[in-house]
Amino acid sequence: MTTDATTKPTVRPSSLPVKPRIYSGIQPTGRPHLGNDLGAIRNYVALQDRYEAIYCIVDYHALTHVHDPEVLRRQTLEMAAALIALGLDPKRCTVFVQSDRPEVTELCWLFNTVTPVGWLQRTPTYKEKRANQPEDVNHGLLTYPVLQAADIALPKASLVPIGKDQAPHLELSREIVRAFNARYGETFPEPQAVYTEAPVVLGTDGQRKMSKSIGNTIEILAEPDVIRKQVMSMVTDTQRILRTDPGRPQVCNVCQLHRHFGKDYEEIWDGERAARTGCVDTKKLLVERIIAHYAPARAMYSELLADPAHLRAILNEGAERIRPIAEATMTEVRERMGLR
Ligand code: ADP
Repeated sequence: MTTDATTKPTVRPSSLPVKPRIYSGIQPTGRPHLGNDLGAIRNYVALQDRYEAIYCIVDYHALTHVHDPEVLRRQTLEMAAALIALGLDPKRCTVFVQSDRPEVTELCWLFNTVTPVGWLQRTPTYKEKRANQPEDVNHGLLTYPVLQAADIALPKASLVPIGKDQAPHLELSREIVRAFNARYGETFPEPQAVYTEAPVVLGTDGQRKMSKSIGNTIEILAEPDVIRKQVMSMVTDTQRILRTDPGRPQVCNVCQLHRHFGKDYEEIWDGERAARTGCVDTKKLLVERIIAHYAPARAMYSELLADPAHLRAILNEGAERIRPIAEATMTEVRERMGLR
């Protein structure tokens, strides 16, 4: 686990929780992929015992691009099942759905009033999203990072486990919180990112980060045949043409992923470099390791989804646990801003 070296812990206002709180949000957009797990969810799991941990399925965020109510509802439950199957224990952490605590939308509006629009227009992800959905450049895309800042600030979280792709958003959250604190007095901690050993996992194309929107994912909770197909399609070292050519394991994404599955990474590296093993061999090994590693999670995921009422109860309990925290923050914020 690493924290962002460019960010420094800040002075703790007296209204802050005594035990540092961590918060992270994840969109309910389909089954999680290997990048989500290695880049973020593994840290969610690791941190749930060390901190007061709060994890949120951010369905308000998803509304910027998911417009089918049934799909959104189904995917929200699927994400809850996936997070629990991958290791979140609702007894040791809080898992809730963003729209079950609508205080966050009020805080988002209040944060809008301290956020210069130029900061949002310059956000790289805003430019990307506009390009990805030119027919639907809704205002939610622009204000997305403000809602994210509100998500983190509502429970006064000081640590945020995320993948590196989220670093610009977190920096913006820090700036928004700083702007609020400067105008209305020290209220919120400036959140710090927490990264795993794999802050950027490349996709099956070996070029871009693994992402649902690009479609270059390895779906860890899918049926083994789907995983097999996705891993076997991975682009490896493009300069290695023949099986007998020495490979470049440092640029081969398949070799790099072996770091996280099994203890023989160095052997695999050496085998590729000395051309003892071919790309297909290392892919086959990786497939079997990924399938075996996630088999218990896959079974639990199916079991959880078979009982949606139980899942719903876990999420309701999470939202209730957050209620006093959210209400206390909003009372303080309204008072500081001169509302009521
Ligand atoms: P996606 O980009 O596939 O839509 P999300 O935006 O839902 O994924 O990301 C959920 C969490 O997983 C975030 O903390 C994000 O930083 C992390 N994450 C997503 N993709 C990767 C990746 N390829 N490598 C590392 N972390 C990632």
